[in-house]
Amino acid sequence: MTNTDSNTDADPSARDDRPRDDDTVGRREADDVEEVDESEVTEDVEGIDEQGLTADDGSDPTVDDGSATTVAADVTDVEAGVEADGVADDTSEAEPDEASPGLFDDLLSGEPIFENKEVLRPSYTPRRLPHREEQINNMATILVTALRGDTPSNILIYGKTGTGKTASAKFVSDELETTSQKYEVPCEVQYINCEVTDTQYRVLAQLANKFIDENVTYIESELERLEDTRAALDEETTTVEETGFDSEEALDERIEDLDADREEFEPVPMTGWPTDRVYSTFFEAVDYRERVVVIMLDEIDKLVEKSGDDTLYNLSRMNSELDNSRVSIMGISNDLKFTDFLDPRVKSSLGEEEIVFPPYDATQLRDILQHRSDIAFKEDTLSEDVIPLCAAFAAQEHGDARRALDLLRTAGELAERDRTETIHEAHVRRAQEKIELDRVVEVVRTLPTQSKLVLYAVILLEENGVHNINTGEVFNIYKRLCNEIDMDVLTQRRVTDLISELDMLGIVNAVVVSKGRYGRTKEMSLSVPLDETKSVLLADSRLGEVEDAQPFVQARFDDS
Ligand code: ADP
Ligand code: MG
Repeated sequence: MTNTDSNTDADPSARDDRPRDDDTVGRREADDVEEVDESEVTEDVEGIDEQGLTADDGSDPTVDDGSATTVAADVTDVEAGVEADGVADDTSEAEPDEASPGLFDDLLSGEPIFENKEVLRPSYTPRRLPHREEQINNMATILVTALRGDTPSNILIYGKTGTGKTASAKFVSDELETTSQKYEVPCEVQYINCEVTDTQYRVLAQLANKFIDENVTYIESELERLEDTRAALDEETTTVEETGFDSEEALDERIEDLDADREEFEPVPMTGWPTDRVYSTFFEAVDYRERVVVIMLDEIDKLVEKSGDDTLYNLSRMNSELDNSRVSIMGISNDLKFTDFLDPRVKSSLGEEEIVFPPYDATQLRDILQHRSDIAFKEDTLSEDVIPLCAAFAAQEHGDARRALDLLRTAGELAERDRTETIHEAHVRRAQEKIELDRVVEVVRTLPTQSKLVLYAVILLEENGVHNINTGEVFNIYKRLCNEIDMDVLTQRRVTDLISELDMLGIVNAVVVSKGRYGRTKEMSLSVPLDETKSVLLADSRLGEVEDAQPFVQARFDDS
């Protein structure tokens, strides 16, 4: 697949570690793969082995055991390092002048748990996607049209995060491109992650530049070929009939045309052009040659949310004006209701075919984890209950495979940090807490300042042992906090709304209680760890100004 969005692959090397014959390459060999040009992966498998050999043939034992000492060492120290390595296993002999272990030696010496951690990262594209056979077959059935040279229907894919949409779509497009090469049908997939590329300008510019690149490459190879033909004619080693051209003049004309075309393709700058110029540049670049293009717009809901549906409108009506090429759109959305915001024409064109990715259940998540863990971990490092527990936790989290894999990876990292050789259930539980805490920290950190103040008021009350905190109490403390740091004070009604938002984010738990003839109020308690949340709040530059809130919290109790 042609990935037009290099930004989206947090770790481009990860695609290189997908299971091949050399599945067992360790972490360090996997690092070597990073230098490898993708297009040469198959040949380079040997290259990797060679590099592995240099480490194994004893010529440089400091590299062999991955010792970090050489990194900082000068030449003389390397010698010492070699000797020290020779006796490294013999720990009973405390040689007085033995090189003292470096910072990393100790960490490296433990048996690592992971065989290849990369396969547990989101950037890795698995070769097998259990429980997505139906969706993958549906996509393939629609897209096979492209291999027959016709335009496939547009497809809209829906499903919550972590249900395998991106992985399945990438898998299908890789297969599509491979097959199109095999049968020499001009068909390609352009992947765009709209969370990163989130405006019409950027989407069109990225597509335009991709096709301009391809066209220029094509023109240059054609020119080279034709100029060779021209030279052969001049040397009379070939005849006009053999060239496929009617005359020498026709050949020369074609060369001139190609030269002119090459000059005309001007890349689109990342900003500055009017949108219709970007669009027409893209249009001409696609239509320069015969081809079927599937434009994969991942996280399409983010694009529409940020920039409306103009891009989709323009892309979806292109086919009626294209002469040589055809485009088909494959939109992927995490938001099931996103078509509600679309122009009806865009909606019906984009949703010609719809494929739903349902959440995984715990059993399916187990299968997914099992497949990955076979490659990711060394043998016998997982105790029996680890995978079922990761699967159960993630099934509660709307059947999110990403969460399941994160749990498994984090559990492995915690076990590694404990220097144990086996991952246990307890590591998974700690991993769950850690991931949950990371999420809370992120949510709290990005709250608007007013919400942070409200939350801080709740925390101060809890710290002082108040249970069933009510809105009035929160509001009083909140007011004082605002005065303290010169913030505008919102109305109590507005503060009640902010409390509801905190409730929805799972940060506080609020219930409405009736106070008889005194009306109703909200009672709340904190649902997140107090100390961590407090320190995130105080890291905010404004809230950090609240030097000592204790006196007026105390005053509030004295009043009552
Ligand atoms: P989405 O795009 O729906 O949010 P992804 O395709 O990014 O989800 O999947 C999230 C993670 O789970 C990725 O690491 C992906 O490789 C993995 N994953 C999802 N479904 C499967 C599956 N059926 N088999 C193996 N791995 C899967
Ligand atoms: Mg995705």
